Amino acid sequence: MPIEISEKTIKRDFIEKVIKLSGQDINMCFQCGTCGGACPMSDKVDVVPRKIMRMTQLGLEDAVMDAKSYWMCASCHSCTVNCPRGIDIAKVMEAIRLLTLRKNVNMYEPSKLDAETVRDLPQIAMVSCFRKLTS
Ligand code: SF4
Ligand code: SF4
Repeated sequence: MPIEISEKTIKRDFIEKVIKLSGQDINMCFQCGTCGGACPMSDKVDVVPRKIMRMTQLGLEDAVMDAKSYWMCASCHSCTVNCPRGIDIAKVMEAIRLLTLRKNVNMYEPSKLDAETVRDLPQIAMVSCFRKLTS
């Protein structure tokens, strides 16, 4: 579905917050797509890193937040080491994740996990998952 771009959908404060939190100059991205080619999660995510970068440059906060990509990002830094513009995309993903968590939006709701899942999952995996994906 096409994304609406208008004064209403462009959130300039979102752009500033991502830049500040990540410490990255997202405007350096020239949409080469190398990050997506290097990303081990690119066949799992709904929006590839290149598009997340473009949507973030444009301040399309709602569209970025609707994507699942920044939750799926494994923070492996493969995109980062391959970006020809030297952008640490993993940090951008982390910044978007943090901004979402600050709104008390969680990827998982721990209280909604069924007993079987809680019993079967390694505790260390659950703890690290909740640290990264819940507010
Ligand atoms: S590799 Fe770097 S410049 Fe290329 S699309 Fe990704 S973030 Fe942008
Ligand atoms: S850090 Fe995230 S976005 Fe970058 S290559 Fe790894 S999984 Fe993909």
